[in-house]
Amino acid sequence: MDTKSKALFEEAKQYIPGGVNSPVRAFGAVERSPRFIARAYGSRLVDVDGNELLDYVCSWGPGILGHAHPTVIEKVREACKDGLTYGAPTEKEVCLARQIAKQIPSMEESRLTSSGTEAVMAAIRVARGYTGRDRIVKCKGCYHGHSDGLLVQAGSGALSASMPDSAGVPMDYTRHTMVALYNDPASIEACFLADPKGIAAVIVEPVAANMGVVPPTPGFLEFLRNITSQYGALLIFDEVITGFRLASGGAQEYFQVTPDLTTLGKIVGGGMPIGAYGGRREIMELVAPAGPVYQAGTLSGNPIATTAGLATLDILQEDPGIYQRLQKKAERIAHAVRKAAKGTVCVNQVGSLLSIFFTPGPVCGYADALSANQTRYADFFGYLLDRGIYVAPSQFEAMFISDAHTEEDIAYTCQTMQAYFSDTL
Ligand SMILES: *Cc1c(COP(=O)(O)O)cnc(C)c1O
Repeated sequence: MDTKSKALFEEAKQYIPGGVNSPVRAFGAVERSPRFIARAYGSRLVDVDGNELLDYVCSWGPGILGHAHPTVIEKVREACKDGLTYGAPTEKEVCLARQIAKQIPSMEESRLTSSGTEAVMAAIRVARGYTGRDRIVKCKGCYHGHSDGLLVQAGSGALSASMPDSAGVPMDYTRHTMVALYNDPASIEACFLADPKGIAAVIVEPVAANMGVVPPTPGFLEFLRNITSQYGALLIFDEVITGFRLASGGAQEYFQVTPDLTTLGKIVGGGMPIGAYGGRREIMELVAPAGPVYQAGTLSGNPIATTAGLATLDILQEDPGIYQRLQKKAERIAHAVRKAAKGTVCVNQVGSLLSIFFTPGPVCGYADALSANQTRYADFFGYLLDRGIYVAPSQFEAMFISDAHTEEDIAYTCQTMQAYFSDTL
């Protein structure tokens, strides 16, 4: 059933570390062999053995419209005819920056990068340049890409492998990173009390989605807004997952809390490699060549990636009911699982993001998430995979709902998950 995938994985391991180009893809946390994907359409992945899988990973977030949306593909195909990259400005970059500013008004000016990691790196550099301070505060279990200073207690891939830090990152590089706890105002305040004039920024995922989905407790984001303002630090929302997913204006619209800087990725590239960071004009004008904070990229604002991103945002904009529909589907799954699991799991769901934690919960932060039973999750994962449902191969990741998931897809998913719990409880 997965012979070709297995053979490819064996071969991959000879040429690629661990056989994959990003750690969590290796299925290490669920003790399975990864499926190699041949193609995808709508809500489905098709692996190299010809198995169809109902996909709830959605490329870890970009796939809000499902796979191979015909309009996006057509526009990309057209754009390719005009060349893949020029290393010179294009009209599409202007369109995308204007569109971002329209949907997320706090991003008056923005810069495109090629990944979320780069966007976050640059946003932090800008925050340091703006404030003249070095320290940043991040929360345990939040992931902000794999740059040195942020690979501290960084969630998901790092969590499953029980490696909160990475080898090869000098202590000196993380010296300026202070670690607080998500949903724990006292721990944030402690950082500011320890160094009232030294903190450039607090960076946070407004909905934590890299330790599994953990929504902000009421008032937490407002607290971050207030304390950063009070101490002259910037507030950075890492909306690489939540941007264009929770609402047209991202988590900052959904929760009505406005950060100073925002980072985007995933959906903004519509499936192509993009990141973006931006904020108030006064801050962003510090970025070279307008100002002294250097940041650059050969493929930044790539015409094919901007085409895919713009096409995706256009489709989302033209469909005002989409976020409601996505949320309804996520709620159906959450409801079905809660009912069937009889208090043995905790389902966290915000908009089209959800996580099923194998712990009674509640899961409000990092320590709660870590208390989830990874062995039981692995068993659940295997059960679903054997029945054609592909969820994240780790307890500490989100399930992503796309517009391509049909009512039948959701019904099948609910039934299968319910059957799992009645078989195992
Ligand atoms: C995925 C992610 C990143 C990193 O983006 P890449 O494109 O993988 O570099 C940063 N922050 C958050 C919140 C993410 O989910």
